[in-house]
Amino acid sequence: MIITDVPNIRRLEEEAIANGISAEVLMERAGRMAACFFLQHYPRMGSILVLVGKGNNGGDGLVIARELLKRGWPVSVYLSAERGKLGSLCKKKLEELLQAFPQLSLYTYPDPVPWTKADYVLDCLLGIGVKGELQGEVAQLVKELNEQRNRCFFQTIAVDCPSGLWEHSTASSLAVIADLTLSIGYGKDFLFREELSDFTGRVEIVPIFDTLPPSSGLESLVGWELALLFPFRNSNTHKGRYGRVLILGGSVGFTGAPVMAAQAAHRIGSGLVNVGVPQEVYPLVAAKAPSESMVFPYDDPKLFETVVSKATVVAMGPGFGLERKSEIFFKTLMSLDLPLVIDADCLTLLARNPDFFQLIRKWAVLTPHPGEMKRLLRMEFSPEERIQVASNFVKDKKITLVLKGVRTVVAQEGKDVFFNTTGNPGLSTGGSGDSLLGIIAGLIAQGLEPFDAACSGVWIHGKAADIAAEKRRTKEGLLPLDVVENIGAALEQMRM
Ligand code: ADP
Ligand code: ADP
Ligand code: MG
Repeated sequence: MIITDVPNIRRLEEEAIANGISAEVLMERAGRMAACFFLQHYPRMGSILVLVGKGNNGGDGLVIARELLKRGWPVSVYLSAERGKLGSLCKKKLEELLQAFPQLSLYTYPDPVPWTKADYVLDCLLGIGVKGELQGEVAQLVKELNEQRNRCFFQTIAVDCPSGLWEHSTASSLAVIADLTLSIGYGKDFLFREELSDFTGRVEIVPIFDTLPPSSGLESLVGWELALLFPFRNSNTHKGRYGRVLILGGSVGFTGAPVMAAQAAHRIGSGLVNVGVPQEVYPLVAAKAPSESMVFPYDDPKLFETVVSKATVVAMGPGFGLERKSEIFFKTLMSLDLPLVIDADCLTLLARNPDFFQLIRKWAVLTPHPGEMKRLLRMEFSPEERIQVASNFVKDKKITLVLKGVRTVVAQEGKDVFFNTTGNPGLSTGGSGDSLLGIIAGLIAQGLEPFDAACSGVWIHGKAADIAAEKRRTKEGLLPLDVVENIGAALEQMRM
């Protein structure tokens, strides 16, 4: 989905209104769609506290409150300003709400906020109308909300954007810290900035317009768009249709890494998975690998020839090693006439030998984390520079770049840059990248273009981690295997 900036959104809103869609209709759409998204993401019923600002964002919140009350959810409304000070549409929505639900529990600033009663707090204080640092009652409420979230364990859902956040915010600005942000209409560019991700949490786009915004070169990955790329499995089929992934890596002390990649390659639906490791760790890896994988020692040239001649895609890097002999082997791999997925040690080898980029024949997907990216670039860069760095790096290269992080970025020459918003800090653990490697390779094996495989792969990987964290009820202690085991559930959600 296209991401755009605030001036564009303002212009598109004005256009819609000039074309006869009233501001009230837009507010109704926004509120109803946001209520639907909320119910989709939080199906477990709980009590809701809606924080309502005096402007249009507050009006959206009152529509959401009405929709949830209609469905029997317990809802309280907290107004940040007296009724007399509400904007005209916001006031109208409040009157309608009180008429339909006269018993509504309604609070007004400076009443104490009933934080302890809330399972979910909906932040509808300020939308994109915010200018400068927060002030007055709103600033007070936002500070309190951020303090209380650690004490009361409610989920915070920001409607449109976390109140206080805007284009010029920094990581130290005062703004609502949300678990989920529902961006109304279009994706707003600043919601996808890595350094602001603590404020936004997960970002979902709630479409309310019938027109697309003009291209900005930036897009957000969304499940249903990716689902269209995914191969459909007919009944009359066989494993030969789903490709053969060849994973190369592993060394003394790093026997788990290729195994985690193999587990992921299986679970994403690859037809066959081969794992090639050096002879010295072969028995260990063969014992650890999934029974479905075919493990072999890659230093046997004949065996290697046979396996590579049947491969659809080669994934390499986890525990690959950095010695001279690894470097020589890596060079031969770079010139294979197969799509490649390159991670970990192989990225370091590539950083040492930038001339190897010339060897790429089919296509290569590179999956660096920011540290590996800095090595490839031979320079430092800040989180704000990621998009520029990624776009520059892919120029004139036959590569898709997956720059990993909180908001993983996928870039390829001639395409928009895509942000991913699935995933959570549970992934900040050794082995997470290995499973991503297996997923992307498995998707290429099944016939996806490398760019599509990279986009779908990062989304599915993050979504599987989100589902795993939800099932375990915590992000702490998530294992790559937990993530891999939820790939099926992630695929199901992708198709929703
Ligand atoms: P939108 O319609 O774009 O969603 P709102 O109408 O909800 O935005 O917000 C605009 C309101 O926010 C205005 O009434 C303005 O007084 C108030 N506002 C703007 N910036 C700030 C700020 N920094 N602190 C407190 N209130 C603000
Ligand atoms: P390893 O080499 O240990 O397997 P990497 O750093 O290569 O780990 O990969 C980590 C993976 O986990 C990447 O896909 C990254 O995007 C994801 N990840 C790590 N931390 C977070 C986070 N806080 N939020 C979302 N995704 C994360
Ligand atoms: Mg890694």
